[in-house]
Amino acid sequence: MRTVCEQTDKVIANVENRKGDLRGDDVRTIVSVWQELQAVRSEISELEKQKTHISHTVKALVSLLFVVQLPEYSQALQKGREIRSRLNELYTKETELDRKHYGRALRLPNSTHPDVPVGDESLAKVVELVGEKPEFDFTPKGHVELGEELGLIRQRHLSHISGHRSYYLRGAGARLQIALQNFALDTLQQRGFIPMVVPDMLKGAVFEGCGMQPNAHRSQVYSLDPARFPDLNLAGTGEVGIAGYFMDHAVNWKDLPVRTVCSSTCYRAETDTGREAWGLYRVHHFNKMLKVCSWILVVHVIIFLRVLDMPTQELGPPAHRKYDIEAWMPGRNSYGEISSASNCTDYQSRRLNILYERDDGSLQYAHTVNATACAIPRTIIALLETHQTKEGTVRVPRVLQPYLGLDVIGKPK
Ligand code: AMP
Repeated sequence: MRTVCEQTDKVIANVENRKGDLRGDDVRTIVSVWQELQAVRSEISELEKQKTHISHTVKALVSLLFVVQLPEYSQALQKGREIRSRLNELYTKETELDRKHYGRALRLPNSTHPDVPVGDESLAKVVELVGEKPEFDFTPKGHVELGEELGLIRQRHLSHISGHRSYYLRGAGARLQIALQNFALDTLQQRGFIPMVVPDMLKGAVFEGCGMQPNAHRSQVYSLDPARFPDLNLAGTGEVGIAGYFMDHAVNWKDLPVRTVCSSTCYRAETDTGREAWGLYRVHHFNKMLKVCSWILVVHVIIFLRVLDMPTQELGPPAHRKYDIEAWMPGRNSYGEISSASNCTDYQSRRLNILYERDDGSLQYAHTVNATACAIPRTIIALLETHQTKEGTVRVPRVLQPYLGLDVIGKPK
């Protein structure tokens, strides 16, 4: 808050550039509510001191004979009553202001790296192309058609079972998910990442610490019935579980960077119902390998990718800078985002109290970096569509063959 108060114009410019759910006026309100809260707190502290002093005075007077007849005694009692009544008013005001402040201030975004393009998605800068774009001498099919013909994916007739934006993988489709997970895990473990299994259900404070809003209108977070399971929410990414693990912890600086990787089921409300209503691109539950403290790509050996430096309006609240990785999806004849890599600087660690300790014993906020190592359904889309053959089968990329035990995914017999 010191930075927000001292550099309000800079914070307003940042908020306007990012076009999140706060505007410049909200920042001004945050500052004025904060100043009011500080004034209330300093009056409380002053009155509490006076209250202690008066109670010492009263105690000292009580030891005297005929105390009730002394004017100092009744004046002290009267003053004490006035202070208590004022303090009660101030405590109520403090609670109200604190709540008002906290709700708004939580939505303040991180600062932005000076090289980030200012504007919307159209200003994303392509910084790298990785691999070779596939060429076809036939019209490539989309993943739903391929997946159904090969018996890998079921998405039809699920409305009475699991609802819209849901799916089943079966046979080689199910094994493909496990193969991709194990391939990503092995690649990252060889590079020193510690594998983790993390909770998928977490308390609201961990989401808020990560820069997500479980209780906001149209939140992407599913919350469990609060009457039965108070404050339990389903994570949309393993990042929440990993962040919770390091919350209120200090790591020795010699152990930095801490590299971890986890596989988790991600639950997303996807409240924007219009987009990609069919297929595996935008579903309510999916599996994803998430790694912390690295931007290493894992799937570049199996599909064609491009890396984008994302503009301000695409950063979301926690990222200081973000690179999206998009895969070429021949069935869509376009790129689709398959990974996001965010440098969140100390935004999450300030909220979650994630610290590192220096040799002199001082504590500093650690910086957090997270990236998708392999988002399974979208990787399956790119993989099936890229490696399809004219005959309707799918060639399995060499690196995945040992994991899948197949070199071609053929039609079911
Ligand atoms: P995010 O955590 O929002 O940066 O998403 C990380 C990755 O998860 C994205 O790059 C996508 O590959 C994947 N993803 C996000 N939302 C969905 C969804 N609703 N369905 C399938 N994959 C998704």
